[in-house]
Amino acid sequence: MIKYQLYCQICHYKHLFGDDEVKNLSLQKSSDIQGSIPKLNPLSKKIETQPIKKGKYKSKCPKCGRMIFVTRYNEPKQEDNPT
Ligand SMILES: [Zn+2]
Repeated sequence: MIKYQLYCQICHYKHLFGDDEVKNLSLQKSSDIQGSIPKLNPLSKKIETQPIKKGKYKSKCPKCGRMIFVTRYNEPKQEDNPT
């Protein structure tokens, strides 16, 4: 089942794949990014930390060698579903 896609904007290389192929693609994971600096909540007097953004999987484009990120295939777009 196809769940992800690799798309290179430079040379338009495209590769669709599923969970079973993730292992074979030797994907690299970029490091997790912290949402923002922890803030002190004036009401609760507690320090609130933002959720950490998970790093994205990336791979090297086999055609042009650029780093490209893995995106979800057929991810529903907000613009397509106006409320
Ligand atoms: Zn490319």
